[in-house]
Amino acid sequence: RFELAGKRVFVAGHRGMVGSALVRRLVRENVALMTVPRSEVDLRDQAAVFAWFARAKPQVVFLAAAKVGGIVANNTLRAEFIYDNLAIATNVIHAAHVNGVEKLMFLGSSCIYPKLAAQPLREDAMLTGALEPTNEPYAIAKIAGIKMVEAYRSQYGADFINVMPTNLYGPGDNYHPEYSHVVAALIRRFHEAKRSDAAEVVVWGTGTPRREFLYVDDMADACLHLMKTFSAPELVNIGTGEDITIADFARVAAAAVGYRGRISFDPSRPDGTPRKLLDVSRLAALGWRATTPLEEGIRLAYQAFLRETGQG
Ligand code: GDP
Repeated sequence: RFELAGKRVFVAGHRGMVGSALVRRLVRENVALMTVPRSEVDLRDQAAVFAWFARAKPQVVFLAAAKVGGIVANNTLRAEFIYDNLAIATNVIHAAHVNGVEKLMFLGSSCIYPKLAAQPLREDAMLTGALEPTNEPYAIAKIAGIKMVEAYRSQYGADFINVMPTNLYGPGDNYHPEYSHVVAALIRRFHEAKRSDAAEVVVWGTGTPRREFLYVDDMADACLHLMKTFSAPELVNIGTGEDITIADFARVAAAAVGYRGRISFDPSRPDGTPRKLLDVSRLAALGWRATTPLEEGIRLAYQAFLRETGQG
């Protein structure tokens, strides 16, 4: 068991949805929490990252910094997604090694698995087939980060671990109309339709893809559990083990927001990968499972949306 108590714990990416959930969870632990604003250290800047690590000397690192977005952002900002995420991973992982960080957790993504891998997605499916083209640059950068963690473990004996969260949602999400993920996009669209009494809301794609959604505070709790109890080269998926079609999800989101109009689909928009459900048996064997049901999580996410956009 890895002792966190009393340690200097750095959350890279603390302003993001995932990093801020880790911060909320870590303040309940007896740790010296460390964060650094982007204006001070741009994690893509190798010299800035190396200088900060040498000075601040964190003992534990959660690497939750990333350039992220929904299907359109991934498919449009392809250069930014590969460059930013490769730079963040190489800078932070290497700086952690050079400065003797005791333990590091790298957060990957379920999109690192092949587009047509067997479902539910087992950890050993990585690199067994071609990726979903819309998010290939992001996935390649994440796979590079995962392989760095594996390499630093094997060559240097570093206690670095890899976890693969499924699609996440909750407070601190990005509600950009074009670049957000589906949960934030639909919360905002249903909310605006309710406010303006619109008769119809358009959902992208065919509605048939299936996705698994995990409330971000559940994910943060899983990360703390694994940081304390898990140390091995294998990946660990973090999810609920349950998925839902986009059409059914749209109905759940509409109900949570209180939108009662029609829901239609626009098949000219991309569906992305047909299904992305994680096999969470390794996580279950390690003693953790998700506790926030989807309906409850979406209700909390809608409250957070109202707060964060000054409408609460
Ligand atoms: P993905 O899991 O990487 O594909 O990420 P997204 O969260 O962006 O998309 C998940 C699924 O939701 C895809 O099948 C999208 O086509 C679908 N979807 C439906 N409406 C929307 C929307 O308004 N925004 C986004 N981002 N996705 C949507």
